[in-house]
Amino acid sequence: MIKTPQEILKDIFGFDSFRGQQKEIIDHAIAGGDALVLMPTGGGKSLCYQIPALCREGVGVVISPLIALMRDQVEALNQLGVRARVLNSSLTVNEARAVEQQLKQGELDLVYVSPEKLLTDSFLNQLSQCQLSLFAIDEAHCVSQWGHDFRPEYLKLSVLKKHFTHVPKLALTATADGPTRNDIIERLQLQEGRLFVSGFDRPNIKYAIVAKDNAKDKLLKFIEDHHVGDSGIIYCMSRARVESTAKWLRQEGFKALHYHAGLDKKQRQENQDQFLKDEGIIMVATIAFGMGIDKPDVRFVAHLDLPKSLESYYQETGRAGRDGLKSNAWLAYGLEDVAKISNFIEISNAGEDQKRVERQKLDALLGYCETTRCRRQVLLEYFDEKLADPCGYCDTCLEPMKCFDGTVATQKALSCVYRTGERFGASYIIDVLLGNESERITQFGHDKITTYAIGKEYSKNLWRSIFRQLVARRLLLVDIEGHGGYRLGENCRAIFQGEETVLLREEVFSSKSSRTKNKSPKQRKVATLLDSIKDESLFQELRDHRLELARLQKVPPFVIFHDTTLVEMAQTRPRTNADFSQLSGVGKAKLERYSDSFLKIINKID
Ligand code: ADP
Ligand code: ZN
Repeated sequence: MIKTPQEILKDIFGFDSFRGQQKEIIDHAIAGGDALVLMPTGGGKSLCYQIPALCREGVGVVISPLIALMRDQVEALNQLGVRARVLNSSLTVNEARAVEQQLKQGELDLVYVSPEKLLTDSFLNQLSQCQLSLFAIDEAHCVSQWGHDFRPEYLKLSVLKKHFTHVPKLALTATADGPTRNDIIERLQLQEGRLFVSGFDRPNIKYAIVAKDNAKDKLLKFIEDHHVGDSGIIYCMSRARVESTAKWLRQEGFKALHYHAGLDKKQRQENQDQFLKDEGIIMVATIAFGMGIDKPDVRFVAHLDLPKSLESYYQETGRAGRDGLKSNAWLAYGLEDVAKISNFIEISNAGEDQKRVERQKLDALLGYCETTRCRRQVLLEYFDEKLADPCGYCDTCLEPMKCFDGTVATQKALSCVYRTGERFGASYIIDVLLGNESERITQFGHDKITTYAIGKEYSKNLWRSIFRQLVARRLLLVDIEGHGGYRLGENCRAIFQGEETVLLREEVFSSKSSRTKNKSPKQRKVATLLDSIKDESLFQELRDHRLELARLQKVPPFVIFHDTTLVEMAQTRPRTNADFSQLSGVGKAKLERYSDSFLKIINKID
């Protein structure tokens, strides 16, 4: 008897109800329809094809671009008692043969293949002799040349339509801008299918941005306050900075690894594996790291340097909290980054149109950084989505920015840029405003101009903040030829003429970071993740047990149980098998495999 989607959800996956559009998508696929599914990371895309594959006769073929990703997903399915296998270049000839044999005999529910493997004539031929329940094309944006993850082999997936007309095809992705969307539909020939679009909001992620002075101290304090013992990713712009940051974190007593495209393949693989399989590793990386990292319990993503655009920021921060538990997105931003990125844009070989687009993207990003409104609202608006009310859960919502009338300050800053010849950057201009003495200032005669020493009412840090805000509003333009010097923007006139009031945000600057130095990580409070857990030591014990089981089976801990399940376990303390089976994420297979050993730990306490 084939089960219903609801029964499969409960019995196999251990969940009580579908989320968002899952049910609708699953019903559509079971009925044999094609679809493009756009759903944010953590939205629950996998169930959308896994459940129809289990409901329909035959094997479901999942096409996925990354070996690590396939491996983890298959691992997780096997833990649930689902008959799934991978087929890609990581298998030995004998292993591959065995899987192909199982496929032929109809012994598999799901097979995960790389596009290279799928597209061989022999494999297509084999498939044509199997009963197929569906095709799922994961990370479908790889088909788009516009996207950053373009994979040429994905283009050839159009053969599926030709060879397997009546097998439903689901393309899934979390990247959803218009051009990419159209590309996917066209290339995979999904014109007759349905489009399912879920909102972009990631409600469990808390967004926060800090000014980039003492950035490392601030980062350390952020980690110590919120993320001791957690997994996280720290993005940096350059390889050198990645390496030095990882080294520094290790010296501070954290388990930090690094990852960038300059490492040899083996090293990259090892670091990535350790990040997935161990608990509490901080990965310091360039943007080379991330696509296909399916780790559900990344608790924070920090940017020590400005990302390239709001899209990149959304993608990168989106790797936090896939499991739906609270997570943080933290960014330090400063004027140097703005200059650097502007410079990249100007010196690139792109045409003028392309450059204009990139400048606009940078502006949008700065606007986001400097906003006094709810960050989530601004972020979602960028993706054409409206959030009716402020989220109440980002930095600007939690600590509303104070504003002040910065008209005069703005006039002073702009005229100082003008008087010094529109070729200097923030540091120099601020020195002039503050009336500081320096050889350069004397040499240029800028101690004689009318704007010298007219800005003593503000600190250097506040001036830097003011300059950031002026750049974000395009009152100042970063000019490239003069090493990031400023020019006046076109909209300055109204300010000089006093026709416009400029409301600026007032930032609070702590002169020194208030973190407590020299605490060893061991003395720091562990498992800060879970404010809601009363008994932290129980949670820790459950987590250790999970890690032990994972090591024995050589799988990442999250394929045994997600943190969500462990948290619930620590909170509700199930005492019997019946209690245990009520936990979210516990289906029949996991109940059988794991309830005894976890119950033993819980039942030790009274
Ligand atoms: P995506 O691929 O869209 O990033 P996943 O398929 O990995 O998302 O799912 C994200 C998380 O949500 C996983 O931890 C998964 O187990 C969980 N999940 C998905 N659907 C449900 C559901 N209906 N009920 C409870 N948890 C779910
Ligand atoms: Zn908010």
